[in-house]
Amino acid sequence: MAGVRLWFRFHGELNDFLALARRNVEFEHIAGITDTAKHVIESLGVPHTEVGRVTVNGEIHPLSEPLARGDHVHIFPHATPVVLRSPRFVVDGHLGRLAAYLRMLGFDTWYERLAGDALLAAIASSEQRLLLTRDVGLLKRREVLQGYCVRSDKPNDQLREVSGRFALSLHFAPFTRCMDCNGPLSPVSKNEVADLLPPHTRETKNEFSRCLNCGKVFWRGSHHARMLGWIQALAGR
Ligand SMILES: [Zn+2]
Repeated sequence: MAGVRLWFRFHGELNDFLALARRNVEFEHIAGITDTAKHVIESLGVPHTEVGRVTVNGEIHPLSEPLARGDHVHIFPHATPVVLRSPRFVVDGHLGRLAAYLRMLGFDTWYERLAGDALLAAIASSEQRLLLTRDVGLLKRREVLQGYCVRSDKPNDQLREVSGRFALSLHFAPFTRCMDCNGPLSPVSKNEVADLLPPHTRETKNEFSRCLNCGKVFWRGSHHARMLGWIQALAGR
């Protein structure tokens, strides 16, 4: 059989991607002679975006380099939190609530419900956005340099997970961005928007903002206080 016999050991959260029998143990695997570390690690189920560091026989090894017969390969996740200098996201069409929550917290978040994998990967690459998805195959695309596989399946848990992983509370700017279109919100006087308001809102509310992109008007309603409480809990205050 043409190939090289190698030993692999995945660490920490990378085990989430492995079959049970391969978790937290060293296991044997036969790879192609010219396969790079990236190729073999991804063929074992772990997208390169999740990999922080690889060692081969105890030495740091670049993902782009091939492996050699008998190598002992250890694969480590990123140290968390992963602190992003200026967090910008592109969010998979299946994670619409998460996208809206990130926008609510002020994060520049590209989201189109019907966007296909090729477009998502292209946006991640050309706009240098971190791709959030639950699709492991999408994260394996070469052009996706920064990405994360969201583990939780409930939107609230997803936001808590992503916020904690990337220390997002350092950058929270709640209610500064449109949840519908990602445009920036700007304060606006009641007079300017009076015609657009339902009568009850016109009588009872005094603080308004408007999306500079789509024109939607927002005001501080009862859900605002509830969201603020939630945001403070996320920020650990
Ligand atoms: Zn808008």
